[in-house]
Amino acid sequence: MNTSPRNLLACFSTIAWLAAAASPVSRAADAASVTAFTHARLIDGNGGPALENATLVIDASRILAVGPAATTPAPAGATVIDAHGQTIMPGLLTAHSHLGVSKGAAGPAPENYSRENVAAQLLQYESYGVLGVMSLGLNRDEAYTWRDEQKVGKFEGADMFLADRGIGVVSGAPPFPLKIDQVYRPTNADEARAAVTESAARHPDLLKIWVDDLFGSAPKMAPEIYQTAINTAHAAFDEAHKHNLRVAAHVFYLADAKALVKAGLDVIAHSVRDVPVDAEFIALLKEKAVPYIPTLTLDEAQFIYAEHPAFMDDPFFVQAVDPGLLASWLTPEYASKMAANPNTPKNKAASETGRKNVKTLHDAGVTIALGTDSGALPTRVQGWFEHRELQLLVAAGLKPMDAIVCATRNAAQVIGVGADRGTLEPGKRADFLVLAANPLDDIRNTTKLVAIYHTGKKIEPRVKADDAKVAAK
Ligand SMILES: [Zn+2]
Repeated sequence: MNTSPRNLLACFSTIAWLAAAASPVSRAADAASVTAFTHARLIDGNGGPALENATLVIDASRILAVGPAATTPAPAGATVIDAHGQTIMPGLLTAHSHLGVSKGAAGPAPENYSRENVAAQLLQYESYGVLGVMSLGLNRDEAYTWRDEQKVGKFEGADMFLADRGIGVVSGAPPFPLKIDQVYRPTNADEARAAVTESAARHPDLLKIWVDDLFGSAPKMAPEIYQTAINTAHAAFDEAHKHNLRVAAHVFYLADAKALVKAGLDVIAHSVRDVPVDAEFIALLKEKAVPYIPTLTLDEAQFIYAEHPAFMDDPFFVQAVDPGLLASWLTPEYASKMAANPNTPKNKAASETGRKNVKTLHDAGVTIALGTDSGALPTRVQGWFEHRELQLLVAAGLKPMDAIVCATRNAAQVIGVGADRGTLEPGKRADFLVLAANPLDDIRNTTKLVAIYHTGKKIEPRVKADDAKVAAK
């Protein structure tokens, strides 16, 4: 043990050293806590070519070094894990999901927002390799206590980020049975201003608003309300986050999405699903650097289970779903109910439009971030949905590497933690997945989890890859 972490760090750039030294997490005391993963294929989350025969060195919580084997030897005294044949990539992040809304087979209900349920959901995400979750609205105030507990290691599972309660519409979106302390429904600008001011005082990571008429069935938020909400949020400087409060919007229609971006919106939180996006929208998103979260999986889940696709027999899916609920999806009654639902054709059309739009926007250079709406309904399966979203992004025409960047670097930026997570670089958190097969060959290989590391701690995957073939290299 002749190589201390301090000596190791001296090899790195000053910036990386400062980032690591400034970490609130205590530094490793000796090389015994240093681990080197060697001979891996490494995807760092920045979108460049994968590094073959790479070494990743971590201490108890942070990344110390990443690089080719030739220039990044395993430090003396480090524990060495041979990852030959395996791929290492950053942990997945979802920039749009929900905690404590549904519970197993039970749909949205106020009583689901319990510590026990939220804790179980965060553990499920983590065991699927989803290491950070933006709970995009409908959060009760007690969640901030849990978020604080996580920062000192007292609340397990994926790291939670909160978009507070959110701003909805009376008798409109979000169309869930919610208690008064889970969503604001202001009726005028003064009430909107008061709601955002109250939210900002709790130091959320983002603020959610809903602008949708739910296929014409409900009143839509008036422009005066969202303009006031956005202005009030932007005027609220948050000392903890060192920036003004940002606003993400649920949208469906292109016209609303454009009006919101013109009003100063920071994040588009669903696909535009009524019509193809146009040049004006692309120019607006690029000019104002507004990221777009497609949530393709949400639209697919509105109809796909009735069609019994092959993934419904995959343990990776089965283990994530309530068994009774899954059984109900396989019945002829469920198929009949979905066929009779007048919204099913609309959902299929919306799904198709959403897929075309994300390809258009991605090709035009708009920042796409992964989010899924997992957890909002029991059909939106937490942990599995994030892997499915990667598959749908690739089906929409993105390259596997580009889809991975959406789920790592870009999602981290939307959540507001890009300086600390989302890519595998010295000084950042040791949040990564070890895969038995290469996701660049087939994006479904993100489900072939050998191990998950969350802030340096090894987590057992809920469903582990059959890596016997890899071990017999
Ligand atoms: Zn949502």
